Amino acid sequence: MLGLMQEWPLLLHRIIDHASRQFGEREVVTRSIEGPIVRTNYRQIRTRSLQLAKRLTRDGIKLGDRVATMAWNTGRHLETWYGISGIGAIYHTVNPRLHPEQIAWIINHAEDRIVFADLTFVPLLEAIAGHLKSVERFIILTDGAHLPKNNLRNCVAYEDWLAQADADFEWASFDERTAAGLCYTSGTTGNPKGVLYSHRSNTLHSMASTGGDGLRIDVTDIVLPVVPLFHANSWSLAFSAPMRGAGLVMPGPKLDGASVYELLENEKVTMTAGVPTVWLMLLDYMRKNNKRLSTVKLVAIGGAAAPLSMIREFEIDYGIDVRHAWGMTEMSPIGSTGSLKASVADLPRDEKLQLKAKQGWAQFGVEMKITDDDNKELPWDGVKFGHLKVSGFAVTSGYFRGEGGNILDADGFFDTGDVATIDPNGYMQITDRAKDVIKSGGEWISSIDLENIAVSHPDVMEAAVIGVPHPKWDERPLLIVVAQEGKTPDKQKVLDFMSGRVAKFWMPDDVQVISEIPHTATGKINKLKLREIFKDYKLPTVV
Ligand code: ADP
Repeated sequence: MLGLMQEWPLLLHRIIDHASRQFGEREVVTRSIEGPIVRTNYRQIRTRSLQLAKRLTRDGIKLGDRVATMAWNTGRHLETWYGISGIGAIYHTVNPRLHPEQIAWIINHAEDRIVFADLTFVPLLEAIAGHLKSVERFIILTDGAHLPKNNLRNCVAYEDWLAQADADFEWASFDERTAAGLCYTSGTTGNPKGVLYSHRSNTLHSMASTGGDGLRIDVTDIVLPVVPLFHANSWSLAFSAPMRGAGLVMPGPKLDGASVYELLENEKVTMTAGVPTVWLMLLDYMRKNNKRLSTVKLVAIGGAAAPLSMIREFEIDYGIDVRHAWGMTEMSPIGSTGSLKASVADLPRDEKLQLKAKQGWAQFGVEMKITDDDNKELPWDGVKFGHLKVSGFAVTSGYFRGEGGNILDADGFFDTGDVATIDPNGYMQITDRAKDVIKSGGEWISSIDLENIAVSHPDVMEAAVIGVPHPKWDERPLLIVVAQEGKTPDKQKVLDFMSGRVAKFWMPDDVQVISEIPHTATGKINKLKLREIFKDYKLPTVV
């Protein structure tokens, strides 16, 4: 017997409808590409999204078509998402930090018909436009006065284009499983792969991941997503802030410490989210300028491991709650967050901080397991590491156009490519990407653990550990560090600092100081590049 409750498809435009109705005046503040701070609200965002949907329809865009966005976090970018998905078309967020060739490959693979782009990316698009066969027109997210001369096909200023339609339009209605968004993973090996989100998965993921124990957001919050909309749905914030009635502050292109600090303070932000590199810059700025944050209550850190020293600084020095989050594009992206369960409430402060440095526990809607190489499940003892596999309502079941074939195991679980432990309290800890784990004498060494310890040395700003070939042990760890400004880390002192904090055989065989550690397009340490840089390097322990 079926229940007798209403069919109420979980469609993304219901979120902006709700926000407009309940929190219509709630502000969406943007540091615009043109420069000034621009203020709008959810009511206007909805009106303009409807206009956009109507105007897109006139351009022939229909259910299932892909429309690219190549843009920073701004109010305009937000309205493109709601407008595009509101007619059943698919917003395809293109990461502008990728190599131009890769960007062209992705747009061609997605067969995007229209590209919405910020002014910043006009030159980049001009360079590759000749290869973009499916793109019928480029819409630059600015007004006529700011549109530069360019040779892009059918190019128009967004405001001029939008003004050609009014908001007298009704959202399309369709199945909640209809595709809504497309985001390609950076693909360190092979071609990038498209993850295709649905209206249902995005809506459920936004509700599930922003509850009190997740990226906690409520009606009193003002949220600043430093994490870009092109990075795995900005961790749901473009949906969950309007859904929960929180204000939004969009930082546009300026993500340096001073600019982010200025917005956090001036706009009275209470919750913010981003990758560790961004927080390194912010903390550095605050330390040097003797600044504090007066309204921020919660910082979500994810995308790469949040070092214990960073968590400690936010929590102890600045009194700001840290939510360490783990996830991936394939998971919409939040997989786990690390609030403190009742079972650990009585631990001493230091142990609580250490627990927060783990990647947290899976919220409702995500199931996790760790397995050995034969897909046999490993115990949750906090010691055994294994392949981390997941299943859930917002986890991918396959890549766009079937790239990569069947990606689920016999039980329907997706292999994240991460290696992790899970402790008896359910706290998962990533020890490595499977491809980055260091295999030494048949044992595994976690590069992330070593990096976290190294980075807590006062002279070290950033640290990366890679495995380097060794004739006897197979691989040994090499520690690569960037110095804190004005400091010169001494190899031996750094090693002495680490010894006793890790098993002896985990100790790096050498330390190299470099001026900058390369990062990927999603802000992670680029180990592939580091391995390339150090490919001719010989460990001093090899005689
Ligand atoms: P890509 O895989 O394309 O680089 P993603 O943003 O999807 O981009 O990256 C997901 C990966 O990032 C995870 O599989 C994991 O290795 C890493 N990651 C994400 N969050 C964390 C975290 N809190 N701690 C450690 N690693 C993390």
